[in-house]
Amino acid sequence: MRYLILSDIHANWHALHAVLEDASGAYDHAVCCGDLVGYCADPNRVVDWVRENVHSIVRGNHDKACAGLDDLEWFNPIARLSSEWTAQNLTPANLSYLRDIPKGPLSVNGYSILHGSPADEDEYLIAAHEVAEVGQLLETNISFFGHTHIQGGFLLVRQGILRIPKTPPHHTSQTLEFENDVRYLINPGSVGQPRDGDPRAAYILYDSSERMLTYRRVPYDVEGAKSRIRHEKLPDVLANRLSAGT
Ligand code: ZN
Repeated sequence: MRYLILSDIHANWHALHAVLEDASGAYDHAVCCGDLVGYCADPNRVVDWVRENVHSIVRGNHDKACAGLDDLEWFNPIARLSSEWTAQNLTPANLSYLRDIPKGPLSVNGYSILHGSPADEDEYLIAAHEVAEVGQLLETNISFFGHTHIQGGFLLVRQGILRIPKTPPHHTSQTLEFENDVRYLINPGSVGQPRDGDPRAAYILYDSSERMLTYRRVPYDVEGAKSRIRHEKLPDVLANRLSAGT
């Protein structure tokens, strides 16, 4: 089976559209590690697409917040403002879809998907020691996570934790072949708001029968996404950070 692995779309329709064109014909099932909404200005277009097309999904902290399932006090003022705007602008059907997205980790045909960490959906896994602390909670050898908006992830080998680098800026893809006796915590990166210094939309194509995956980076219409944010009078910083990939 060939899977399209998405995470952290954040209401960026321009980025999602470019990813879908790039991945067209290359997958059987779409999977998402959460954060459909928040930050960008097209939550309904994104959630409409996800409802129609994504087979397996876990919720992210922004999905929870916009659906009224979490306290907005945890959010910084800008994330909070965009959450409130999103909650006011989502259709009732899309709000109720967000409310019902399950919490991760979720098992999908032999691998797992989660948003933050296997211990806590809101926790960031950035440093190797953070991964070491939760490694024993992973129930499958291959897990996909998001939340950090940083493409790459970690290999959990007998000697410790190794970091998987993101796709280099001058490449559009990078492949990884799975080995036995290694556990993998894989981050596809963010479709809609990359924070690893590369503004291109990030995602993964995973082929379970070939036991390999491909990290992808795709340029998209960043100016289009920025003008939607400005048109909806969301904070300018949310538009500007898209060009920088931060
Ligand atoms: Zn996110």
